[in-house]
Amino acid sequence: MHGVRTIGLLGGMSWESSALYYRLLNEGVRDRLGGFSSARCVLLSVDFAEIERLQAAGDWTGAGELLAADARAVQAAGADVLLLCTNTMHTVADAITAAVDIPLLHIGDSTGAAIAAAGLTRVALLGTRYTMEQPFLVDRLAAAGLEVLVPDAADRDLVHRVIYDELVLGVVREESRQAYREVVDRLVARGAQGVVLGCTEIELLIGPDDVAVPTFPTTALHVAAAVDAALAEDGACAPHTIDR
Ligand code: GLU
Repeated sequence: MHGVRTIGLLGGMSWESSALYYRLLNEGVRDRLGGFSSARCVLLSVDFAEIERLQAAGDWTGAGELLAADARAVQAAGADVLLLCTNTMHTVADAITAAVDIPLLHIGDSTGAAIAAAGLTRVALLGTRYTMEQPFLVDRLAAAGLEVLVPDAADRDLVHRVIYDELVLGVVREESRQAYREVVDRLVARGAQGVVLGCTEIELLIGPDDVAVPTFPTTALHVAAAVDAALAEDGACAPHTIDR
């Protein structure tokens, strides 16, 4: 087997979710290799204030240029594969992929593969307004043969507000957990067979015990794909989950 690959994390969006990525990545490698094994990785953590300003201004080109430059720095630091540690900023995945030679493990692919493996065809998507309303994740899941339901406008507002006013700041409130449960219940009543926790902080708030249908936690699934890629035999780097 080839030496273990170095995982590159482009994070800080928010650092609360990057902390989760780091923990899950190390636990994943330890569980696979045992002993004192931990993940070989590099992390570039951005200033989220700058990213949030560009998002709010709708300057996706500027955000793409910024993250493309940072992705090059992650590659230069020795990464063999790249994780963009946020669903939302996958809206600029093409700009990032074009800037580097290493594969980007797209968060939509690890999520879609898990939903397909569970045998579901219609899932609800919770995430930021950008993720729920722009096509970049919905279309990626649809291309994997899945039907995606998003909350109605009032619920999208609530889900988005909890992410930006609470979760990215490390605030986890019981009222918000209850509100999210109710949003999911309404989506299940519309026919959702499962729910994609399509924002990397949402799994800090709700999990399988909170809802009646299977959950697909994008951070944990993204990390699992990265561990697979890092530990894969040469030439077996799960090419179907990788964009070059
Ligand atoms: N981490 C979040 C996501 O997965 C939201 C923060 C961001 O805008 O990147 O979408």
